[in-house]
Amino acid sequence: MPRRIGVMGGTFDPIHLGHLRTAEEAAECLGLESLYFIPSAFPPHKPDKKILAFEHRWRMLELAVQDHPKFRLSDIELRLPGKSYTVLTLQRLLDESRNEVEFYFLVGLDAFLELNTWWHYHELFELAHMCVLRRPEYRQEGLDEFLKTNISPDYRWNEDEGFYEHPRLFPVHPLRNTHLGISSTRIRRLVSEGRSVRYLVLPEVMRYIAEKRLYTLEESRPDVKRGKCSL
Ligand code: ATP
Ligand code: MG
Repeated sequence: MPRRIGVMGGTFDPIHLGHLRTAEEAAECLGLESLYFIPSAFPPHKPDKKILAFEHRWRMLELAVQDHPKFRLSDIELRLPGKSYTVLTLQRLLDESRNEVEFYFLVGLDAFLELNTWWHYHELFELAHMCVLRRPEYRQEGLDEFLKTNISPDYRWNEDEGFYEHPRLFPVHPLRNTHLGISSTRIRRLVSEGRSVRYLVLPEVMRYIAEKRLYTLEESRPDVKRGKCSL
């Protein structure tokens, strides 16, 4: 049996309990030996949006995974040249592991349904098991349709295994994770409005956000208004 390693990519701007709880459930039900959170260093999909500096996102991830026996971080996308393309990341991970492992790529249904906009997206299915996390606002039926239309009509649902199988490509696992309507977008908005994010992120992450004054609009920072804040 090859070792099963999970990989969850994202901007993690910031990491929240939606990421952590669904990763926990996926690790448990897929029998993962460990799970790597891989923050995107140069996200191709969010070039115009202002993303927090990698260092802050990384530090919050460190705080979030520090006590977990299976959760790890990888800065591979910072080390790889150019934009952060998942296909290249998975290829590199496979090279580094000398093919002794099988990778399980965790992706939310929202991102999965946009996979056809990712660079060389077909190859993802040659590199890793695709594990799709459900998100409350997205229809689960969309997965079946998307898979057969955009990836391959040869994917077939296997009731016994509980995944879609394919004669040549890796299986696709729709996960029955807890529905958690938490997103980083909402957290950034709440913080910028001076509202609480308690119970949406870990206490350590909440403290870090407050301490570094992240996601706070300049004009709403009292110290900045008074010209006292050093950034
Ligand atoms: P943003 O709102 O900035 O896009 P996000 O909450 O979607 O942030 P990302 O860093 O974009 O977080 O997500 C990383 C991965 O985790 C994606 O595959 C995404 O679909 C998934 N994900 C994020 N939040 C949840 C959630 N609450 N439940 C299940 N999957 C999630
Ligand atoms: Mg997202």
